[in-house]
Amino acid sequence: MPNGRDDTLMTLYGSHCFSNEVMRERLPKSIYSEILQVQSGKKELSLEVAEVVAAAMKEWAAEFGATHYTHWFHPLSGVTAEKHESFVSPLANGGIIMEFSGKELVKGEPDASSFPSGGLRATFEARGYTAWDVTSPAFLKTSPKGMTLCIPTAFVSYNGHALDKKVPLLRSMDALSKAAVKVLKLLGEKDVDRVIPTSGPEQEYFLVNAELYRKRPDLVLSGRTVFGSMPAKGQEMEDHYYGAIEEKVAGFMNEVNSELWAMGVAAKTQHNEVAPNQFELACIFSQANIAADATQLVMETLRKVAARHGMAALLHEKPFDGVNGSGKHINWSLATNTGINLLDPGAALAGASGSETEKAVIRFLLFSMAVIQAVDTRAALIRASASTAGNDRRLGGHEAPPSIISIFLGDSLTSIFDSLGNGKEAPKFTAELIETGAKSLPKLPKDVSDRNRTSPFAFTGNKFEFRMVASSQSAATPSMILNAAVAESLSDFASRMESLVAGGMPPLQAAVSVIASSWAQHKRIVFNGNGYSHEWLQEAQARGLPVFRSAVDAIPEFMKPSNVAMLSSLGILSREEAESRCTIYLERFSKQINIEAGVAMDMAQRHIFPAATKSAASFAQAASTMAAIGVPSLAQEQKAKRIAALAGKLQEECEKLSAALNTAQKVQEPLAKAEAYRSAVVPQMDALRAVCDELERQMPKADWPFPNYEDLLYSL
Ligand code: ADP
Ligand code: MG
Repeated sequence: MPNGRDDTLMTLYGSHCFSNEVMRERLPKSIYSEILQVQSGKKELSLEVAEVVAAAMKEWAAEFGATHYTHWFHPLSGVTAEKHESFVSPLANGGIIMEFSGKELVKGEPDASSFPSGGLRATFEARGYTAWDVTSPAFLKTSPKGMTLCIPTAFVSYNGHALDKKVPLLRSMDALSKAAVKVLKLLGEKDVDRVIPTSGPEQEYFLVNAELYRKRPDLVLSGRTVFGSMPAKGQEMEDHYYGAIEEKVAGFMNEVNSELWAMGVAAKTQHNEVAPNQFELACIFSQANIAADATQLVMETLRKVAARHGMAALLHEKPFDGVNGSGKHINWSLATNTGINLLDPGAALAGASGSETEKAVIRFLLFSMAVIQAVDTRAALIRASASTAGNDRRLGGHEAPPSIISIFLGDSLTSIFDSLGNGKEAPKFTAELIETGAKSLPKLPKDVSDRNRTSPFAFTGNKFEFRMVASSQSAATPSMILNAAVAESLSDFASRMESLVAGGMPPLQAAVSVIASSWAQHKRIVFNGNGYSHEWLQEAQARGLPVFRSAVDAIPEFMKPSNVAMLSSLGILSREEAESRCTIYLERFSKQINIEAGVAMDMAQRHIFPAATKSAASFAQAASTMAAIGVPSLAQEQKAKRIAALAGKLQEECEKLSAALNTAQKVQEPLAKAEAYRSAVVPQMDALRAVCDELERQMPKADWPFPNYEDLLYSL
């Protein structure tokens, strides 16, 4: 237990987190109330306040033995970055003093040149600035070297361009709040002055034995197995052994939980039985920027703690072919500062009666409709926000959602929208409609929970679940795009309602009219059927929904004029910022495939080919020895021939892969390069894999140079 940490959950939770609670205890009242105002966007942080907070933060951190602090941020590479600075300053008399100023708290100046900027910053203009995100609490990170105070920050360039994933996320939250508040005011909701997107991400991952992991260069270097043939399911899974695994995993999970809890990350770990050695960790939801920080800590902690337990945590979307992939499901909703979940029909209806009930129902339907319109209007961009090389392998297969964006609403909600939409004028709210609405709505969660598995974006009773997101990805970008799209649809609703109300229509009727016309226009995005079926692909195409098979097709959406116009008019991403993201994501795609192809060739040529040659030779040797004494040896001879032939094929495929790789490496322009990797390298890598997997099936297990799927999936 680091630094005498108390074991009981109550004291453990948040013990390493400089939360509002801690600030309330440690800061003068006036300073604390200023911080609250800064958090709710009403005030800017002044240097005087920052000085006081910095002093309290340093004192608090020092009590835990922290000697260093870091501005902790989300560069566009997708992992979090930190540059440690010491609190310790030397004194003239040779002593030292612990120092941490308000300026150091508020602003850092890391050398930005080694982070991807997608052309936003020439390398010589290396300066980047990090600024404290006051809404996300500082925390202490434990490492063998001791404790470090981590200050969640935003990362911008000298001229104010967002170089990270945090700044656009925060901007999108502001845009969303503004639009949502406007709509609520039109509905007569006077108390609400802020609406916050809430996010509760679920993280799927695999665990493998660390020793076996180290023997698989593909896992170590690329995060996924580029070879491996499927074992017969359930084989080798003996009960006593499984019991031992469970104990090992439970120990791991407990430690993951306590580390996360200490940092104030509300993790609830659970065993996931979908695939062998696959697990899931969900966090209790929080506002979207805090949730994005939390998922970064979750991924980091899973890796770190797994290593301590002799395991490796695989966060790749598809570590094993033919086995379920891993996603990051972002549960998403909208909360008012007065505590209402705008997408929860139950909460909307609780305690309401008469005209209040009607208003609550309409409010719920209006905000749900805003999400539907947003997802339909920006389906392509939303798809792009979840597009990575790894997700290309996951989407559309083995229980993963398809790569086409659609919304699962469930039959009850769909029929409510249908009846609203069918009225040419705003339908009258007969007692019957309200009654059916009111009575059936709260039951929705039970209705839908079992049937949304194939949907990339499902209503789950009081929130939407965006299931397409890639497991290794930061939650920030998909959340940002979702917020942006909903901000856009809510602004549209607000201006449509405004003009209807100006024309004399009562606000609630105006809302119903907006819902009805939006439904008519956007219901094509709703699909309650089986997303795995082949018919759905055809149906989606017929409905005109965007179908992108690969990340390379989807990522350029970030540069499409209509998307850029939307993001820049909402003040979320400028054209340059949007283009830089496009470039960086395309480059990441190319780099990932380049690594995979490189490691595949290396494993095939330097390990599998020699092993196959030896194996063929030994069968040939056996055949001739047996033939010499007149024993029938046809099977041995055929085996030798078969393996030798496959080894020859392996060489051919390697040469073709090498040629494809050379061509792709020479292409300069990011999109053309990613396309070369996708269309020439990926299929060739798969062709090589097919040969190697067949060799694995043909060769004796003892001759195979790597741990196989059985080893990796059924032991820990
Ligand atoms: P279910 O079991 O129906 O999927 P849970 O309550 O277990 O629902 O929630 C699953 C995930 O959704 C959790 O991470 C949870 O924190 C998150 N979640 C619940 N409510 C909300 C909300 N209002 N906004 C965002 N996420 C939420
Ligand atoms: Mg879920």
